[in-house]
Amino acid sequence: MYTNHIIYQRNFVGIMQATPRRLFFEYQAPTSDLPLGLEIVKAEGVYLYDASGKAYIDAISGISVSNVGHRHPAVVAAIKQQCDKYLHTMVYGEYIQQPTVQLAKALCDLLPLHLNSVYFTNSGAEATEGAMKLAKRATGRSEIIAMHGAYHGSTQGALSVIGNECMKEAYRPLLPNITTITYNSFDDLKKISNKTAAVIVEAVQAETGVICPTIGYLKAISARCKEVGALLILDEIQSGMGRTGTLFHFEQHPGCQPDILLTAKGLGGGLPIGAFIASNYLMQQFAHKPMLGHITTFGGNAVCCAAALAALSIITQSNLMQQVFAKSQYLIQRLVSKKIKSIRSAGLLIAVEFETFEQNKFYIDALIEKGIITDWFLFNAHCMRIAPPLTITYSELDCIIAKINEVLHD
Ligand code: PLP
Repeated sequence: MYTNHIIYQRNFVGIMQATPRRLFFEYQAPTSDLPLGLEIVKAEGVYLYDASGKAYIDAISGISVSNVGHRHPAVVAAIKQQCDKYLHTMVYGEYIQQPTVQLAKALCDLLPLHLNSVYFTNSGAEATEGAMKLAKRATGRSEIIAMHGAYHGSTQGALSVIGNECMKEAYRPLLPNITTITYNSFDDLKKISNKTAAVIVEAVQAETGVICPTIGYLKAISARCKEVGALLILDEIQSGMGRTGTLFHFEQHPGCQPDILLTAKGLGGGLPIGAFIASNYLMQQFAHKPMLGHITTFGGNAVCCAAALAALSIITQSNLMQQVFAKSQYLIQRLVSKKIKSIRSAGLLIAVEFETFEQNKFYIDALIEKGIITDWFLFNAHCMRIAPPLTITYSELDCIIAKINEVLHD
């Protein structure tokens, strides 16, 4: 007891003296040997500021999170208001919390009628987990069909359905009964059978470097799922919340009818929250045999829901979504260089492809030097990710364009 106290004292003194950079490298668990290591002390709108006061345009929105920009005043106000009332009250699903139920209704009002029940989670991966459990429970089947190149999160269930062997290898055995098919292959849809509990698919494959569904593909998956009694889990964690010009990307694909919709990232306006949304009939499964079929302590946290409600109303009640396509085209048309192999986009989710990773990394690093943050994609290191907040102005886009053209032409 006494010894622990001394250690604590010593560390506490250490904390006060050490720089955040030192603490980061010494105490925060790493995810790679090469973290960007920018020390951000403030963020506002599309800008991040480091400890030296240098401003950066966040051209990736913290990976498709800050769709309404950083610290949007309405989001901050909603958070503060909720903080004055209560923070955590009880584990998910027991107490009635106003921001939580209001957010659930607001989401359902914006979705097809059958998507009328929301289960809130803390992250995208958890939304994936909950949806897969629900599909297995509702169908009594165990096979899940997933796509090559897909990303759905890093927890074990979600990892089981990602389409990248290299990321899974070290963690096997993962979930059994996963079949992987090729995104956009109509032929492969035959593999969805009456043994399939669910097909999980991203509305836009983001981490492979922005691959959009071809016309009719999402509709065809929907139809095949209906035919064999499988459920369609549609992952809009990255493509949702206005990023591609509609609240959810599937709205641009008539006939696509997800049974379970996944959302997270941009949903919280900067706070951590995710959700899977299905019919009330399906969701009832979690309440019986066994009851508490899916539980979480912090899911639906009132502060996160208040922030999400504010972000959702900014996105749906402004003209931000209507501007997405024009802003995307404005940027794409001004990136002109022989060094660019191709550009793919779904609204303000843009992949600029180069010949090699080394080339891409060189440009990304040079851009950071010039105050523009871009990145590569998890499963496509040749492609530069550009996904700025939807609130970005044309003059801020001009700045990104100028700097990218500068590094490409240097
Ligand atoms: N699904 C998609 C399409 C994603 O892009 C991500 C994260 O990048 C996830 C799921 C996982 O979300 P989270 O990191 O919040 O667990």
